[in-house]
Amino acid sequence: MDDAAETLFERIVAGEIPADVVHSDETTFAFRDVNPQARVHVLVVPRKRYRNVGELAAADPDLLAQVLRSCRKVAELEGIADSGYRIVFNTDADAGQTVFHVHAHVLGGEQLGWFGG
Ligand code: 5GP
Repeated sequence: MDDAAETLFERIVAGEIPADVVHSDETTFAFRDVNPQARVHVLVVPRKRYRNVGELAAADPDLLAQVLRSCRKVAELEGIADSGYRIVFNTDADAGQTVFHVHAHVLGGEQLGWFGG
């Protein structure tokens, strides 16, 4: 794991790296993905860093629930709460996780494909 990747989202949350912020509250922070994979692609992170969703779920399930509530809030703000959206937590190597500060991808705004099709 490289150190820059470890701290990237902490630096975005701290305002040290600019981001297109969609939603912010006491415990979570949401901003647009720099390399969007759908018309709407927003990342939701807890302000407190955990490596992945498994660690977050084990250590602080209430905070995980807050992350999910923020995903719903993002969907509402982006106008995709009714048309549908996908929440993805890439978790470690085989899933291609590259930033080791747990983040939910909120994807939507179009018909989404699935693996291999
Ligand atoms: P992962 O592959 O870890 O699940 O997702 C990391 C995501 O962070 C990727 O979708 C990538 O495009 C996004 N990302 C990487 N660096 C930056 C950045 O500096 N700013 C923003 N807004 N997104 C980033």
